[in-house]
Amino acid sequence: MSSTALIYDPLYLAHTMPGHPENSQRLTVARDVLDREGLLDRLAHPPARDATLDEIGAIHEPAYIQRVQQVAQGGGGWLDADTYVVAASYDAAVRAAGGLLTAVEQVLDGTATNAFGLVRPPGHHALANRGMGFCLFNNIAIAARYAQAAYGLDRVMIVDYDVHHGNGTQDSFYRDESVLFLSTHQYPHYPGTGYFDEIGAGPGAGYTVNVPLRAGVGDAGFARVCDEVIGPVARRFQPDLLLVSAGYDAHWSDPLAGLTLSINGGYFPLAQYMVRLADELCQGRLVYTLEGGYELEAVGYAIAATFRALLGDATAADPLGPSPRAERPVDDVIETVRRTHKL
Ligand SMILES: [Zn+2]
Repeated sequence: MSSTALIYDPLYLAHTMPGHPENSQRLTVARDVLDREGLLDRLAHPPARDATLDEIGAIHEPAYIQRVQQVAQGGGGWLDADTYVVAASYDAAVRAAGGLLTAVEQVLDGTATNAFGLVRPPGHHALANRGMGFCLFNNIAIAARYAQAAYGLDRVMIVDYDVHHGNGTQDSFYRDESVLFLSTHQYPHYPGTGYFDEIGAGPGAGYTVNVPLRAGVGDAGFARVCDEVIGPVARRFQPDLLLVSAGYDAHWSDPLAGLTLSINGGYFPLAQYMVRLADELCQGRLVYTLEGGYELEAVGYAIAATFRALLGDATAADPLGPSPRAERPVDDVIETVRRTHKL
């Protein structure tokens, strides 16, 4: 009997700034949709723990961790033009990273089949010594290292389908052949990285896979990327655990970007694909984390659709419907990625 865990903590709402796109409403709306859809009752709700300094320190420099703490203790401030810190942000970020460690524990202890850390602040832009792009600590990178250190896993695969390139996660494992990072993202776009030729370095060469997509790519393009890139890369790598940085800002309605995924034709089958891949390659061990996504209704229903995929449901609700814009083809992108990585 499979089970799905949702990791959430009210502290994730304390890091917020009204008027900023990355605010606490993203989670309150998502929880409302999960509740209305009857999903909360079908999930396990283990309490999120805090990450330790050592666990965060596996990815971030001590001076940076201290800086975030000091800015928060001083009442808040900005790490860059986009990235705010308020008084509660350090505690929220420590528990966001810790919540994802709880998710990893649930899955690797066998308590849950799969898990979703509905955490904030997000993480995938955060670098070892610098927060950026709304991100303080790189939750998924910390989780990948923890899975290796605490459970002895050899190979962890991270798929990042936020509309923005996960530059912080890429950077964390760029020279590492034990963590494969695969990102689909709009390109050119923020933060500017993630071109085909960023493939890793040294022993990590070939273990970073970038799929840069032009604005307009949507459901059909992502289905092809799954079948022709993500699947073949995963089967060659043979991960012991699959982690997903789920950004819902690739939805067609998102105000900050221009990809055109829908929920029913895009996010739902994408999550179903991840479930199938984890079933095929790593006993179903799959851990999701929330990154971006700024159109509140789309975020809420896309998260609900993701939970339905994790639970094995055959259908999901999509009140927003398909993209009103025509889709851009991806033939050239897929050909270039397959040639770059000899797929
Ligand atoms: Zn994003």
